[in-house]
Amino acid sequence: MPHYDLAIIGGGLAGAATAYYACKKGASVLLLERRDLNLGASGSNAGSIHAQIPFDPFRHLGADWARRYAATIPLFQASIARWAGLEQELQGDLGLSAKGGLMVAQSAGDCADLRAKATIERAAGLTVDLWDSKTLAARAPFLSGDMALGAFCPIEGKADPFRAAPLYARRAIELGLDLRRNSEVLDLCTDGNGFVLTTAQGNFRAATVVNAAGADAARVAAVLGIKVAIEAHAIQVAVTEKRPPTLPYLLYFTGEKLTLKQAVEGGFLIGGGWPARLRGHPVVDHRSMIRNLAIARRVVPALGDVQIVRSWAAMVNGTTDWRPILGEVAAVPGFFLNLFPWMGFTAAPAVSEAIAALALRQTPEIDLGAFGI
Ligand SMILES: Cc1cc2nc3c(=O)[nH]c(=O)nc-3n(C[C@H](O)[C@H](O)[C@H](O)COP(=O)(O)OP(=O)(O)OC[C@H]3O[C@@H](n4cnc5c(N)ncnc54)[C@H](O)[C@@H]3O)c2cc1C
Repeated sequence: MPHYDLAIIGGGLAGAATAYYACKKGASVLLLERRDLNLGASGSNAGSIHAQIPFDPFRHLGADWARRYAATIPLFQASIARWAGLEQELQGDLGLSAKGGLMVAQSAGDCADLRAKATIERAAGLTVDLWDSKTLAARAPFLSGDMALGAFCPIEGKADPFRAAPLYARRAIELGLDLRRNSEVLDLCTDGNGFVLTTAQGNFRAATVVNAAGADAARVAAVLGIKVAIEAHAIQVAVTEKRPPTLPYLLYFTGEKLTLKQAVEGGFLIGGGWPARLRGHPVVDHRSMIRNLAIARRVVPALGDVQIVRSWAAMVNGTTDWRPILGEVAAVPGFFLNLFPWMGFTAAPAVSEAIAALALRQTPEIDLGAFGI
């Protein structure tokens, strides 16, 4: 039976990045992917690089939740620092742009909440500048005129989800990664001496295992009797025809769910986590799309006559409190979780490097101690 230092389950960005960093540390690594690389959330997402606390849960879960959630801010900051050097490290174009993210509010209540949220973010060490309506008019002239307040975070931006996980995997393969596609992990057991992973393509042995199975991670963990509170939600994104450069920032609106940005090529990506339908697999819900587009148009009136050219739906990994679940499972030594919900595209680089270090019994650069199961 082939034997590895580390086996990783799931070939999304979390799995591919963990594989790359573990290979770079000299380990023998196996990556088992059920279908093919990057076909899950990592290759279907909107490519936003986030650092601000999301507004929707802030509104619903409140300031105490936000103060607890703010513990993730250093993880986002560390990952964004990694993203900045990633094109050079992986020697490839990742479509990276970091011109900042702007969250805008119109109603008095939302403005008060946005200020309160910024106070919590600043206390956690994140730079957030508040722009009044005059500043918004000068620095964000594409906005509708009734926006009263903006929270600008200069480290936010975007990258290309089609490119990140495949490039990580390509570099990991050069460093010795054994990547097995079409290799769903069907069973997993431990004999105290490591793990045996069963697939239809054969069995494999590994000293340690990382569960990076995204929205399916709960099912994988359950095989070992571990309960992981990861949820799977179908959400959707739309992209428009190309237009001349208008929108330099990643844009959010507090009034309703919206993330909006313009790709280098000119198309606008419109998302924000609107629900899709599930018909065995996720499919675009036109009611969600109509709402999502109306909000985009409400915030950026110039989108009024832009045509949608493509939309898609995919499963995202979620947790109810939005916090990640990371690190070794104490009850099953050697079994690690790399599960970053909702914004796992942003968080993958630094978090995956830390998980690779932990799985190889090294000290990670960032502390994941607060995010155990
Ligand atoms: C529409 C959408 C928009 C999003 N927008 C953003 C955004 O703008 N910014 C952001 O930061 N995040 C965003 N996200 C979230 C982000 O994409 C995810 O949090 C992140 O990609 C999760 O990565 P992952 O590698 O953990 O999971 P995935 O990419 O889902 O990969 C998991 C992999 O595990 C494999 N797998 C599952 N079970 C098994 C098994 N038993 N054996 C072998 N393989 C298995 C799957 O086939 C899959 O390939 C968005 C998500 C969606 C769906």
